[in-house]
Amino acid sequence: MSKMRFFALQELASRKPVEVSLPSDKLNDYYGIHVFDQQKMQEYLPKEAYKAIQDAIDKGKPISIETADLIANGMKSWAKQLNVTHYTHWFQPLTDGTAEKHDGFIDFDEDGDVIERFSGKLLIQQEPDASSFPSGGIRNTFEARGYTAWDVSSPAFVVDDTLCIPTIFISYTGEALDYKTPLLKALAAVDKAATSVCKLFDEHVKRVHANLGWEQEYFLVDRALYDARPDLCLTGRTLMGHSSAKDQQLDDHYFGSIPARVTAFMKELEIECYKLGIPVKTRHNEAAPNQFELAPIFENVNLANDHNQLVMDLMKRLAGKHNFSVLLHEKPFNGVNGSGKHNNWSLCTDTGVNLFAPGKNPQGNMLFLTFLVNVLMMVYKNQDLLRASIMSATNSYRLGGNEAPPVILSIFLGKQLTTVLDEFVKQDYSSKSDQAANLTLKLGIDRIPEILLDTTDRNRTSPFAFTGNRFEFRAVGSSANCAGAMIAINAAMANQLQEFKAMVDKFMEDGMSKTEALFRALKDAIVTSAPIRFEGDGYSEEWKQEAARRGLSNINNVPEALMLYESEQSRAVLIGEHIFNETELASRLEVELEKFTKKVQIESRVLGDLAINHIVPTAVTYQNRLLENLRGLREVFDAEEYESLSADRKDLIREISLRVTEIKRLVKEMTESRKKANHMENYQERAFAYEQEVKPFLEQIREHIDKLEMEIDDEIWPLPKYRELLFTK
Ligand code: ADP
Ligand code: MG
Repeated sequence: MSKMRFFALQELASRKPVEVSLPSDKLNDYYGIHVFDQQKMQEYLPKEAYKAIQDAIDKGKPISIETADLIANGMKSWAKQLNVTHYTHWFQPLTDGTAEKHDGFIDFDEDGDVIERFSGKLLIQQEPDASSFPSGGIRNTFEARGYTAWDVSSPAFVVDDTLCIPTIFISYTGEALDYKTPLLKALAAVDKAATSVCKLFDEHVKRVHANLGWEQEYFLVDRALYDARPDLCLTGRTLMGHSSAKDQQLDDHYFGSIPARVTAFMKELEIECYKLGIPVKTRHNEAAPNQFELAPIFENVNLANDHNQLVMDLMKRLAGKHNFSVLLHEKPFNGVNGSGKHNNWSLCTDTGVNLFAPGKNPQGNMLFLTFLVNVLMMVYKNQDLLRASIMSATNSYRLGGNEAPPVILSIFLGKQLTTVLDEFVKQDYSSKSDQAANLTLKLGIDRIPEILLDTTDRNRTSPFAFTGNRFEFRAVGSSANCAGAMIAINAAMANQLQEFKAMVDKFMEDGMSKTEALFRALKDAIVTSAPIRFEGDGYSEEWKQEAARRGLSNINNVPEALMLYESEQSRAVLIGEHIFNETELASRLEVELEKFTKKVQIESRVLGDLAINHIVPTAVTYQNRLLENLRGLREVFDAEEYESLSADRKDLIREISLRVTEIKRLVKEMTESRKKANHMENYQERAFAYEQEVKPFLEQIREHIDKLEMEIDDEIWPLPKYRELLFTK
């Protein structure tokens, strides 16, 4: 056995749970202590500064530099009693994860004495000189400078000795270089469009905000075993590994009791989350061995997304302390479930109405149906944009796999709602008696709440499921920044709602009553979007065929899926709603394609190295042992007996030889294809070459290695095996 594997297993045997104790028996004593929230603002800020922040958050009013000085000073005073010495602008570049550059509060005053300073200017804007983040060409062409600017809508927080200010990240020329900037624009767009549709029902609605409740799935692997797997360390997934004789067949892990070491990790993670004001609520085992899930109570999208980024960061940092490595990759292990990050999404008015929850009266239910039907249309028209928004090198290994939503978009509504919609389109509204009450009675709309209450309808195979009071977008990858999906969904919804409103307005101009205009527009949308509704098994082969008949798109090829960021409809949404300008959209696509290319390139290199340096030598060693054995047999037995005794060993030697030869040939060919792809000037061509010419080798090579794993003596196998990685206690 390799030393790494041996020591890793030895360490594993002596692992104990890390002791974790609650800071207090009252959650209230420590919840949010690391956040500069409303309460602390009131405590640490002068009245006018506090008011200025509220106006900035609620009404988007700018904050003067003098007020910013007051706020910065208040923040510093608060942070200092947590022993904070540094501050950072915390932002979300287009890589995986977040970025920060820490500066000390230290400064010299006019007399040259050391003081601690944090000014409004430093709070509002910084130039982090973060010139090596991906920018998709924006910054190479002009100025290499990028700026971060304070996002007042997300509160500052403290991690270790650093005060973190959530910021957007933009170029010198004003183009977005991050996820947050377009997200804030998409949220503003959906606010405006949804409010205007709400006003058809209730004049009092002034704002609509979007909510997000993410469910984060992840794997934990023992740290020592992880360190002994170069593929996990470098790519986040196993590039080889025969499936374990037992994995998830018995479903005995799902919702089972959580191993003690894992509980300790989860407990500490939750404590740290609570200190940061992240309302995590649910923890449980997932379907695959060593797979878990964490979900908070939903919050507004921007905050929820910041919190998800923070949680992923916290997980990685805390895992080490518990001798684990956390795997956020969507498909770390072949043959068992991958990890997703369901995005539960809803729209809510400032009057407290959840627009995806049935109302208490017929009018409320019409409002609900209006938004529901607009979601149907939004997804129907924007399948390509939604798919592009969740597609990545890592997620592509999970999508379309057995346990994950396929890359075909569809919506599950449940039987009762489906019936309501089917009834709806059967009605004829041209009659003069289109009294809202009459119609709703006929349609049973007034009974929606009861209907939904007793529904236990759940469809786990739908990529976009209605779950009673929200939609759940399940195709999002576990390692993704939720903003990708949330930008697409909210921008597309804004676009859809505007078109819907325009249609209703037009009908009214043509002389229809508001009620009739609404019914007409809804009926139209229900009929048009019908193909997107699917109640059956989304993982089945028949669905693929049925979806094709319905004209729904199904794209597995990563660059091809990503290119649809620039489809006519995607452009209508992203450019049309001013989420991106032309330069930003082009750069976003370039960044995504390049990210894909680089990830496959790294996987291909790592696999090539491991195959040649770890696997082939091990195979040859074992083969030599078999040859030695044959020579011994020949010495001891006569020719006839030798022939009969040695047959199986000869076969095995032959098979190992063939596999070694094949592996070497495939690695060589893969390297050649990579070289060819790398020489391509155009980043789009390069991405396609990686998808079509390089990626297929990964599976082919792996297949031989996984067979060898079963043929070669366990004693000398160099890498920890699936059964070891997946069954940590
Ligand atoms: P399940 O696994 O059954 O889908 P969970 O309880 O694990 O459910 O997660 C559901 C997520 O949906 C939680 O984050 C929850 O806060 C969130 N959620 C519940 N209601 C809404 C809503 N109206 N809008 C957005 N998210 C919601
Ligand atoms: Mg869910």
